[in-house]
Amino acid sequence: GKRGGRAASQMFDENTLGAYRRRLQIEEKLPQALEQALITPVFQPIVSSGTRQPIGVEVLSRWHDKDLGHVRPDEFVAAATDMGLVGNLDRLVFKKAAKIAKPWIESGEIGFVSFNASPMDVVTPGYATDFLREIAASGLPPSAICLEILESSLVEDVSSARRNLNRLREEGVQIALDDYGTGYSNLRALLDMPLDKLKIDKSLVSGIEEEDKVLDLVISLVQLGRALDLTMVAEGVETASQGAFIEGAGCPEMQGYYFAAPLSGQDMTAWLKDAASE
Ligand code: C2E
Ligand code: CA
Ligand code: CA
Ligand code: CA
Repeated sequence: GKRGGRAASQMFDENTLGAYRRRLQIEEKLPQALEQALITPVFQPIVSSGTRQPIGVEVLSRWHDKDLGHVRPDEFVAAATDMGLVGNLDRLVFKKAAKIAKPWIESGEIGFVSFNASPMDVVTPGYATDFLREIAASGLPPSAICLEILESSLVEDVSSARRNLNRLREEGVQIALDDYGTGYSNLRALLDMPLDKLKIDKSLVSGIEEEDKVLDLVISLVQLGRALDLTMVAEGVETASQGAFIEGAGCPEMQGYYFAAPLSGQDMTAWLKDAASE
């Protein structure tokens, strides 16, 4: 009725206002958080499906603010993008994470460190040159770096994205397409873009036991990846049986809470020691 409608629209306004206020506060605090390097990396292991041993880590970032509490990466990445600060964010995260992960690479505990690239970065001319300079300064070999890109970064300016990705790949950086199986997943992009890996989205992994068709779809995606000479990674593996289905589907790499949540550098160092002694 009328009254219900009014209550609902009032609630909508309050939610919208709340979200708007939070966004303003995030924008207010982000520049200082970047300057003071308050955004920190966490690491999630990526394991081999066959051996269940770690082969790499994905870097995710975390920001805890005394007033805002835990700010989710999708919140501050969006704000940083709109404010033209996303390059600063990614540089900060790369610098900190590379330093922490370097001993893991040098000891051979893992083979690669995977970073999330903001769509804005990938289309910016000169991005590859800047990123390669950062990699050189870190002392890590480019072949130990993987860059996870979103398909949305390929929509806007395909030619500059392609140039950046080609340049990075020439130097040995691996390129992974994140969130495969969601959104626009466009088959043409798989042929057109310089890629090494596909990451099967966690929404497919979580549906694998609920619907037979989802398992069939994942099996087909793995076959498609193989036909295109791409490595496959399944993200969001939360249970032993999801892991078994993913392994059975022929997907060679996986990650998710079942193995480990994203961990601080210190906790990851301990986790890798444990894994090596098993
Ligand atoms: P993503 O790259 O798809 O990362 C996977 C997300 O799933 C992460 O959320 C991770 O913590 C979460 N996750 C990992 N294992 C599991 C699982 O088993 N089950 C479930 N349900 N979730 C799992 P997070 O850390 O909140 O990051 C969200 C998104 O924000 C990321 O999605 C990535 O696109 C972006 N992001 C995070 N850190 C950075 C960053 O430093 N730079 C950029 N550009 N983007 C970032
Ligand atoms: Ca990712
Ligand atoms: Ca993903
Ligand atoms: Ca995602």
